[in-house]
Amino acid sequence: MDKIKIMNLEVFCNHGVFKEENVLGQKFLISATLHLSTRKAGITDSPEITVDYASVCKFIDEYMRVNTFNLIESVAEHLTMALFAHFSPLREIDLEIKKPWAPIGLPLDYVSVEINRKWHTVYVALGSNMGDKLSFLENAIAAIRNDVSCRLVKISDFIITEPYGPVEQDDFLNGALMIETLYTPAELLAFLQRLENEANRTREIHWGPRTLDLDILLYDDLVMDTENLVIPHPEMHKRDFVLKPLCQIAPNAVHPLYHSRIRDMVENI
Ligand code: AMP
Repeated sequence: MDKIKIMNLEVFCNHGVFKEENVLGQKFLISATLHLSTRKAGITDSPEITVDYASVCKFIDEYMRVNTFNLIESVAEHLTMALFAHFSPLREIDLEIKKPWAPIGLPLDYVSVEINRKWHTVYVALGSNMGDKLSFLENAIAAIRNDVSCRLVKISDFIITEPYGPVEQDDFLNGALMIETLYTPAELLAFLQRLENEANRTREIHWGPRTLDLDILLYDDLVMDTENLVIPHPEMHKRDFVLKPLCQIAPNAVHPLYHSRIRDMVENI
């Protein structure tokens, strides 16, 4: 990926845990590496299809002066989110905030925080087999669409599937989404579980009926196994109600453990 770099933009503003810092202000230096494709703009020499670094600098300058945070960690986190929201071609940002006048009573060049944040590509399975199933799925999609840390890229058709497992229950409505997210896997799981809870989802019967079920299928090509979260979803390769909608939106996505395309996984199920 190509990069545009901004080095040591100087802004006088009021971040810090001490009251004096919030009142008197001090100098901050901001460096950003913006990851994006500059190829098309480069070939066509068209300013309107790249990210204008002057606009980015003005945005950072204003954001740093208008908002006040205790921690430079927070400045970095919130500023990065705001940059992603404002400059849609950005795929990844490295951001460093330096505080050369940090009031610690000892001489130093500067103290700084540097973070890296990026949009991750994620596939999510949706299901419902209670109440107004379509509304539950549509409400979840609307909530994902409206979340600043998510971008909805593709939605599959919804399919009706018969339940399986030991519990007698109604048919399911199933689908899949492709999203881009700034959330870590654990944050994304917490966000999706909040949506499940808001849909009055209860977890009384394992395998039982549910108003809304949201599962993380793939998260970039990450492989992880923790107590609460397993990625890729450990059952996805066995479930045609997951693979079929997923195949519609991502036939050529590759499962990072089986090294198989989703279209081949559907055929071999
Ligand atoms: P379910 O009944 O399918 O909603 O299962 C929910 C439980 O599975 C939650 O307690 C999650 O912590 C856990 N889990 C493990 N891996 C995943 C995943 N990839 N996506 C969603 N939930 C997961």
